[in-house]
Amino acid sequence: MTSLEGRVALVTGASRGIGAAVARSLAEHGVRLGLASRSGDDLGLPEAVARPCDVREPAQLEALVAATVERFGGLDILVANAGVGAYGSFLDLPLEQLDEMIDVNLKGTLYAVRAALPHLLASDGADIVTLASEAGRRGLPREAVYCASKFGQVGFTRALDHELREQGVRCTSVCPGGVATDFALGEGRGRTPEMPELAHMMAAEDVAEVVLFVLTRPRNHRLLETALRPMSEPSWG
Ligand code: NAP
Repeated sequence: MTSLEGRVALVTGASRGIGAAVARSLAEHGVRLGLASRSGDDLGLPEAVARPCDVREPAQLEALVAATVERFGGLDILVANAGVGAYGSFLDLPLEQLDEMIDVNLKGTLYAVRAALPHLLASDGADIVTLASEAGRRGLPREAVYCASKFGQVGFTRALDHELREQGVRCTSVCPGGVATDFALGEGRGRTPEMPELAHMMAAEDVAEVVLFVLTRPRNHRLLETALRPMSEPSWG
């Protein structure tokens, strides 16, 4: 296991859910943090650089990366986690939700990597972790646009691995099944708090443990993709 003490990470979508669990876990392991979310929540971590940052806005990401690098002297880890979901049949999906999923999940990931990569390349061993999904590995019913955004994220991460491996940057997609967070709980988004399957989903902390495992592998190897699912979900082949 490689120590993360003193490393510097940027986590997007850090204010809630999986991103907040990842940020807290990294802080416990001595990682210094830049935290991106629209609310700018610092999770009560006094050392963290946190400010409102919409991943659809490249300039806001660049400003947060610059502030993080200025505070801590570099950047070693990007966890591109910010994401939104909405479920339903394709034609019933409002155009705004279609655009939001592509813009936040896919383009937001590209923009985050674009802002972070010059600094990651200067690190003596960097990691990019994209929080994708089982929906980035299989076509799922009522999730066509979400799947499109997540397949895009996974494909981008796989292609980046070819580009960055020899420069010491590891690229990993983490692909969870259902996680009980606020995700997709909203008007017309296809999940409601009383849905029985929520009770059987994984916790955000379960995913954070996997991210920690990925980041603490010895630097002679890398995990390309990790898939995890609650026992209540089938394997879909
Ligand atoms: P969540 O609890 O709803 O949290 C989403 C996070 O993303 C929040 O911190 C939110 O903060 C941030 N965010 C949303 N839009 C943003 C934007 N435009 N710019 C910056 N930050 C933004 O969701 P989650 O379940 O933790 O999901 C995290 C990731 O895991 C997503 O990529 C999701 O696709 C993926 N995932 C989730 C599940 C699941 O079942 N929950 C399963 C597989 C994969 P603000 O609102 O403050 O901006």
